[in-house]
Amino acid sequence: MNRVDTYKHKGLRQQMVDKLRANGISDEAVLHAMNEVPRHFFLDSALDSMAYEDRALKIGCEQTISHPSTVAMQSQLLSVKPGMKVLEIGTGSGYQTAILCRLGCKVFTIERQKGLFDNTSKLLKELGYRVQGFLGDGYQGLSGSYDRIIVTCGAPEIPEALMRQLKVGGIMVIPLGDGEQEMLRITKNGDDRDQWQIEKFGTYSFVPMLNGKQMRN
Ligand code: SAH
Repeated sequence: MNRVDTYKHKGLRQQMVDKLRANGISDEAVLHAMNEVPRHFFLDSALDSMAYEDRALKIGCEQTISHPSTVAMQSQLLSVKPGMKVLEIGTGSGYQTAILCRLGCKVFTIERQKGLFDNTSKLLKELGYRVQGFLGDGYQGLSGSYDRIIVTCGAPEIPEALMRQLKVGGIMVIPLGDGEQEMLRITKNGDDRDQWQIEKFGTYSFVPMLNGKQMRN
């Protein structure tokens, strides 16, 4: 793991952020957070030179870190404010988790793969991010109630437990579908399904959200 943040990294990161802005990301808090968090810290050092390209990269356990443009889009749609309780499903590399921390959120994050859970928990701690990390099945969510919920794997349906754990007035951002997903922002205006406002924000390709906890690496 390469933990040195050189001028070269900083320059590439600034270029990444400039491109995100040019491509329509307008939330300055999100852009600032993405300029502050070194994405290469969340990748194997062999991938260092590609860390600031707009691409998904392998993070082990057959999983990938999301494209920077996807992280930016999901973070913008989530429209968080400092102090909000945010539940993330699919910790993966921890990069999106770190962005949410930078945005001032209290982050609860669930990962089903033990290998990733162990490595990422250690990394986030070493980097000084204070996160509540859990090994488990994100379909079940986490007891409690949350201002925001972000799902970073492709969900075949809207998980009911997550909608229950979302506060009234809260927002969930979730890529929905098999194979390819449509990015949804669900605003929960009330407990009944007909009080959920669903907006669509284009097509994405995520690794699938799988049922159950995976204990092996
Ligand atoms: N935000 C992460 C995305 C990683 S890919 C990043 O940018 O690095 C999605 C992650 O979701 C994978 O690590 C995968 O193991 C995890 N995942 C898939 N199904 C899950 C489930 N049911 N519960 C929790 N995590 C899940």
